[in-house]
Amino acid sequence: MELKERMRAAITAGITGDALGVPVESSTRQELSLCSVKNMLGYGRYDQPTGTWSDDTSMTLCTMESLIRGYDIHDIAQKFCRWLFEGYRTASGYVFDSGLTTFMALESITSGQCTALTSGKDSEDDNGNGSLMRILPAALYFRNEATETFLARIHEISAITHAHPRAQIACGIYSLLVRALLDEKGKEAAFQETVSLALQQYESTEDYKEELRHFMRILSYEVLTLSSDDIQSSGYVVDTLETAIWSFFQHDSTRSIVLEAVNLGLDTDTNGMVAGGLAGLAHGLDSIPDEWLQALAKKDEVTTLIDSFIDTALKQSQS
Ligand SMILES: [Mg+2]
Repeated sequence: MELKERMRAAITAGITGDALGVPVESSTRQELSLCSVKNMLGYGRYDQPTGTWSDDTSMTLCTMESLIRGYDIHDIAQKFCRWLFEGYRTASGYVFDSGLTTFMALESITSGQCTALTSGKDSEDDNGNGSLMRILPAALYFRNEATETFLARIHEISAITHAHPRAQIACGIYSLLVRALLDEKGKEAAFQETVSLALQQYESTEDYKEELRHFMRILSYEVLTLSSDDIQSSGYVVDTLETAIWSFFQHDSTRSIVLEAVNLGLDTDTNGMVAGGLAGLAHGLDSIPDEWLQALAKKDEVTTLIDSFIDTALKQSQS
């Protein structure tokens, strides 16, 4: 696959995973084992039509739209605020799903109390997956930066809403894996590079080093040997990262990876989004049924934005 194709597949598979998960969000694994998701469904949890994607995709679209005009963290944050408070870049014109940490952070910007550089929440309770679910475009856009700068950008963009080092590290590990997969390394080699760079970078900074113990199942490769019973698929950022990486290594097709992640239950849409990004990079979109892609809400608007973002991201590498 060409680089352009990989990027397009990553974002599209992520959005498809989000939409697959929306109707069953919060369902338990037991419930889903009785009636697993096999196709794009409608209604369910939020009573939204088939193909409706959620906050994960809205914030991903806002990030892409902003980066097309160059990196400006305040502009990204403004677009997030327009999404949350005006329904901008939503599937159905209004927001039906938003995390508390994200809400509090964006509220502090809208009310003038904070800027995008100070808005992020950083308590232990602010380690949901609300920044991990939207970090993919940033990883694609900054991929040619030196590792230190690359991670600094990823952390900064996470910190618009999620400023705790644990949420930042989760975004960092995911983005390093995205970057390694873009280089057409095999899945195992890409994961090895990710682990080695993450250890190297995060062990050298005290604030981050202390947090690394929460990622030990990933950084020791143990995650690859676990059974599904050991994988929690909640909205906690470490659980989501483990879910995505675990699902990614269970299968060799994008369709199977995304369905695996969704059917683990609980934060199904974000599991689908985060796992979908990795799956698309490694396996493309060939195994995703065309009818799923056709069913995506605002498909033409989404596709146009993805294409234009990727054109910008590719130029970014030449400058
Ligand atoms: Mg969501």
